[in-house]
Parts: sequence; C-alpha cells; structure tokens
Amino acid sequence: MSFLSTNPATGEIFAEHPEMDTAEVARRLDLADRAFEEWRETSFAERGALMRRLASLFRSKKRPVAEIASREMGRPIVAAMAEVEKCALVCEYYADNAEKILAPAPVDVPTLRSGPRPSSGKDEGVGAGSAESYVRFDPLGIVLAVMPWNFAYWQVMRFAAPALMAGNIGLLKHASNVQGCGIALEELFREAGFPTGAFQNLAIRPSGVEAVLRDRRVRAATLTGSERAGASVASICGQEIKKTVLELGGSDPYIVLGDADLEACARVAVDARLQNAGQSCIAAKRFVVVGAVHDRFVALLKERFEKVVVGDPLDEKTTMGPLSTEGGLADIERQVSASLAAGAKLVCGGVRAPGPGWFYEPTILDGVKKGMPAYDEETFGPVAAVISVADEDEAIMVANDTEFGLGASLWTKDVAKAKRIAGRLNAGFVAINGMVRSDPRLPFGGIGKSGYGRELSDYGIKEFVNIKTVVVN
Ligand code: NAP
Repeated sequence: MSFLSTNPATGEIFAEHPEMDTAEVARRLDLADRAFEEWRETSFAERGALMRRLASLFRSKKRPVAEIASREMGRPIVAAMAEVEKCALVCEYYADNAEKILAPAPVDVPTLRSGPRPSSGKDEGVGAGSAESYVRFDPLGIVLAVMPWNFAYWQVMRFAAPALMAGNIGLLKHASNVQGCGIALEELFREAGFPTGAFQNLAIRPSGVEAVLRDRRVRAATLTGSERAGASVASICGQEIKKTVLELGGSDPYIVLGDADLEACARVAVDARLQNAGQSCIAAKRFVVVGAVHDRFVALLKERFEKVVVGDPLDEKTTMGPLSTEGGLADIERQVSASLAAGAKLVCGGVRAPGPGWFYEPTILDGVKKGMPAYDEETFGPVAAVISVADEDEAIMVANDTEFGLGASLWTKDVAKAKRIAGRLNAGFVAINGMVRSDPRLPFGGIGKSGYGRELSDYGIKEFVNIKTVVVN
C-alpha cells in the first residue's frame, strides 16, 4: 500500500509514495553496508566538506524544501523555513566541531605506587602503568533512525549530522505522513555528494522496522516519537544487544513564580505552547502558576492567545497552522472535553476552527487538577493547562508530578533561587526565564518516560561511537 500525503489544512490527498518491498529494503541495506566500508575511511575534512555543501543546499532550497513540510504536516511556512535553516546550522556545527570532539583523548596511566595493590592471581597487572594510553572514537556502522512528523527535517538532521560526521551510515524510517520530506532529505544528501548509500530513506511501515533492526549489519537505532514505538524498538534492540537512543514525549511544566516578569513570561508562553500548533515534545504543556500572580498571568496569556493568526500554512501571516493528523485533533478534543467535564474552566478556544482542515483554536484551560487528562497526559496540540499552586514548593512538586522528564521552564527574577530550583526539577533541560529549545551546541534529551540518551553537542555525537581504549605497553 502506498503512503498518502494529505494536506492537513484541507484534508485533501495530494501525493502518493510507493512503499518499499523487502527486496528494495535488502538492496538498500547492501548499499548502506558497502557505503560504510568507504565512509569510515574518509577524513573529518572530507566529511565536513560534504556537510557544508549540504548546509548550503538547505539554504539555497529553503523555500521549496519548507513547502513540502507545510503541505504534508501543516507547519506555517515561516516556521518551516526557520527549521530548514536550523538544519543548515547543525550541519555546520558538526562540520566545524566533530574532529575536535572525537579527537583521540590521551589518558595518563602511571604505575600505582600506593593504595590497593593486587596480592596475586587474577588481578595481576592491576596498578601497572602503560607507556601510552588513549581513547579513540570509532563509528559503529549503520544506524536506523525512526522519526516523527512534527519537525520532519530537524528531528532527522539532529541525528544525521553528528552520526555521519562520526563515520556512521544513516537509514531513515520516516513517519507515514511525511514521506515527501524523507525523499527530499535523501535527495539533498545525494546532491551534496555523499557516497551512494551513506544516507537513505526507507519507505516502510512500522511493521517493517523489526526486520531492519534484526539485520546484523544494523548496529544501533534512535527513535523520536511515542512511548509505545520507543518501547517496541528498544525491546527488539535489547534482544539483539544493540544500542538505542530514545527521544519520547513530554509534559513540560512552565513554572511562574510570584516574582516573575509576567509580561515577558506571557509573551514567551505563546511560542512555548503554540509553536507547531502545540505539537512539540518540548512545548510548555502545564502552566504551574503561583496563586498571587495567577489572575494577571491568565489574563495576559488570554490576550496573547487571542491574537494568534490561525490559518493556511502557506500564508506568511499565519502563526499557527492546523494539527497534522485527524487523529491528533480527535485526541485534543477528547482531552479538552474530559478535562472540562472534570471541572476545568475554559478561558478561551476549546473548539475546532470553522472551515475544512484539522484546525483547533488556541485554548486555555484554567483550574486544571490531577486526574484530568490536561494534567495527567501529554497534550499534543494548542492547549495550555493552568494549574494554580500556593507557593514555590508546591510548584516544584506539581512540576515533577509526571512520568515524563524532558524540559522545564522556570520564571523568577531571582536567578540564584532559580538555579537552586533547577537542581530539583526532574527534566533533561531547564530554561530559566525563557523557553526550552534545542540548540546544536547544547545536549538535548529526557529522563523517565521521555527517553534516554542525548542528542546534539559533544554528548550527542558520542552516542553512536565505539569508545575504544588503546593501551601501548
Ligand atoms: P509515533 O507514532 O511513535 O511515530 C514516530 C515514528 O515511529 C514514526 O515514524 C512511526 O511510523 C514510527 N512507529 C510507530 N510505531 C512504531 C513501532 N511499533 N515500531 C517502530 N516504529 C514505529 O509518534 P507520534 O505520535 O507520531 O509523534 C508524536 C510523539 O513524538 C509525541 O509523544 C512527542 O512528544 C514525541 N516527540 C518527541 C521528541 C523528543 O525529542 N523527545 C521530539 C518530537 C516528538 P508511522 O508514522 O509509519 O506510524
């Protein structure tokens, strides 16, 4: 069965992409395997030159590349172009830094003259020094990336740029609704001059993932997506003893303390919650607000939510597009109506926008409490859940009252206090007086049900390498 690209702004199918059969997947695995033998021998300078060429292609083709995402998943064109630009930046970041990060690291191993010494037998040799010891970072081989539709280019490139700069080969299984984006990425790599097979798109369904993961030539996998999909990939890789990185969901708190700059806090909150129509793992989802500033903050947020321009993703004036899938819209409607039925108060929105397509109005729910879907579940849409708390301690308790642990945003004028609170928040990223956003220079990832492992920065590139110890005696 083919993959269908449906425009979420109209509900119309506009493209069809053939699904690859097992023979085509096998052919691509062979190509990937052959490419690894060649690619692993290239120098950082050679890889970096290709990565820079890829970056300039992202820039020169920014508009057409962004339009594919706008049409397939409804991202407003201005935001989609910024995403393509960010892909160029991550290519350049690793082109500039991979060699330095992955340079062999010498370790001084002198002979131990004091402390515990082996008495005899098995441990003989412990404590003995070496003439030279160092750590080298070698590529693993083929890495499968299972990716979601919400940032259809950025999610892929934040895996692919470091993985390929480290000498690995990338295979992409992209989400069913953004196959056009997957094909565009493969073409960009080819046009940049990467060797055949270095980065390929596999147009397969989730049911085809297991066979790829069990292929002995595939050494590792990364998945960005839901808990269900992450658990499936991780369990197969567990049986095969293959490394995985998981970037899963989030229910990030946006904590507003009594001394926060409320104007700035409400201004940033709009983007933090509504970017990509709220379909972002690191979107602020639960607004944990100290009682004294609650009414003022909600009033400011409402004022700003009502100014958001919801409309055609290809119109440059649009600031929020539709939800990407009909199922996603249905989930949001269920979460809002069940939260209202359980006692939450509707401040604004709460309805589909009129006309065709999968649009939902920017929505604020106040009085949200534990036991409501808006508190307990990840809301993957434009819905801000406001939870009122008595003080800072309760704010931290509520912020941590989730199985997820991706990001957290914290607003207070007392930065020293904020840094102390940062240590108590169960998250992979804490943004003080700002929103959580990924950056090639900073590690990104979660804890708990948000996954494990890190992407980006020097931490990310070291996820898919063999940290190899070399001792010269
Ligand atoms: P999803 O259903 O898990 O889809 C993600 C990818 O996994 C798609 O390519 C999908 O393929 C594939 N997939 C689904 N089930 C699979 C299985 N059993 N085995 C192998 N592959 C499988 O995720 P989604 O609901 O579309 O995406 C939203 C989720 O991703 C949210 O929870 C969001 O928070 C999370 N996310 C996390 C991050 C992060 O960095 N932490 C970033 C973005 C999104 P098909 O499309 O063909 O089904």
